Amino acid sequence: KEIVVSGIRSTGILHLGNYFGAIRNYIRMQEEFNCYFFVADWHSLTTHPDPKDLRGNVYRVLAENIASGLDPEKVTLYVQSDIPEIAELYLLLNMMAYKGELEKVPTFKDKVRQNPDNVNAGLLTYPVLMTADILVQRAVKVPVGKDQEQHLEMSRNFAQRFNNRYGFLFPEPFPFNYGDDLVRIMSLDGNGKMSKSENENSTLYLNDTDDAIRNKIKKAKTDSGPQEENSEKPDYINNLFTLMKLVSTPDTVQFFEEAFNKCNIRYGDMKKQLGEDMVAFIAPIREKAAAIQQDHAYLHRIMREGADKARATASQTLSEARKLMGINFY
Ligand code: ATP
Repeated sequence: KEIVVSGIRSTGILHLGNYFGAIRNYIRMQEEFNCYFFVADWHSLTTHPDPKDLRGNVYRVLAENIASGLDPEKVTLYVQSDIPEIAELYLLLNMMAYKGELEKVPTFKDKVRQNPDNVNAGLLTYPVLMTADILVQRAVKVPVGKDQEQHLEMSRNFAQRFNNRYGFLFPEPFPFNYGDDLVRIMSLDGNGKMSKSENENSTLYLNDTDDAIRNKIKKAKTDSGPQEENSEKPDYINNLFTLMKLVSTPDTVQFFEEAFNKCNIRYGDMKKQLGEDMVAFIAPIREKAAAIQQDHAYLHRIMREGADKARATASQTLSEARKLMGINFY
């Protein structure tokens, strides 16, 4: 079976972007592949270093994944910091990662712009740690959203660089999405991508109440409607259709598509329908996650079992890497 790795940062409550970019794929992939999914707690320290939030966020990400349909019996589910081999591989790969290429990464440049007082080395080397997460399990498929596409290109470069310098160890990892293109869910205000740590009022969280879901969708950005028949949709309208395709029936989508094409769409009606379908989608996940999150004994068992499995394979990779690099003296 092909090996799959993917992680989610423990930086807050999961949202629809995480669900449709990542988790939805996880749930299908668990039936077909050898999957390693993890909570990226080390990655969260680059921007969310407060110890008092960390534990709750780790439990939350685990619970929300399981509530969404991830089965810890079928996949290896673990917390990144339980796997010290990832840190060791990160150190080794850092010797092959150049400052210039890391500084050019658009997400790094964005972070520098957003918060110039916290440009830590962890932020700069984020793609290296991500590469270690993937290569430590020698994964070939990485289910991620569109925002991670460039990072994965770097991961392939680092894998090739290691293989060329020391001998073949790492297959190249590629981003994966059922369907064709990688998913990018926009924020409901039309500004950038939906994200855990920004724009609370235009992000649909997996723990939003029914009323919050309806209200956020009601306030989503729209306009006065298309001026010409069959015109192209603006990004923010396209985003509403994307969400609708994900949670509503094909008939509903077709109804509003046709209305759009004929210039008689009523966005108020569309948002009302989308709100109801979204409530029906999110409510069961929210309720299940709330219960799982309280069950620390269960979560601890999952985390320990996952860590044991992930370490067994990771330590084999590290022993090969050390051998190839000449770091084996006894
Ligand atoms: P943060 O705001 O803390 O950076 P995030 O919401 O961007 O968090 P990550 O933990 O960085 O989420 O990403 C987890 C997974 O969710 C990744 O596979 C990422 O590609 C995917 N993802 C995140 N946001 C979106 C989005 N808006 N559309 C599609 N996929 C997304």
